[in-house]
Amino acid sequence: MTKNIGLDVKAPDKECNDVNCPFHGNLPVRGQVFTGLVISNKMSATVVVKRTFEKLVTKYERYQKRQSKLHAHNPSCIDAKEGDIVKVAECRPLSKTKTFVVVEVV
Ligand SMILES: [Zn+2]
Repeated sequence: MTKNIGLDVKAPDKECNDVNCPFHGNLPVRGQVFTGLVISNKMSATVVVKRTFEKLVTKYERYQKRQSKLHAHNPSCIDAKEGDIVKVAECRPLSKTKTFVVVEVV
């Protein structure tokens, strides 16, 4: 059964047996939601997501482009590939560097 995770995203069509899947397992999502580009899916069940954002530099009254990378859990029912634009949601720490989970391929 697919759960409602409390975000306005389309639920995946596939099912999975991952306990760390917000839709089919037991992983609550809360906190921040970001959209970013998948730049690597080489790890098992983990993707690297690049996020670009603009930061205000008050001295020059202009915006500076910045980017950051974050690791996100990739449940098998979502299965995001390199080059996909994905939505990631914050969750509890799943490993040393993973505190986000992919919730949708945009
Ligand atoms: Zn799932």
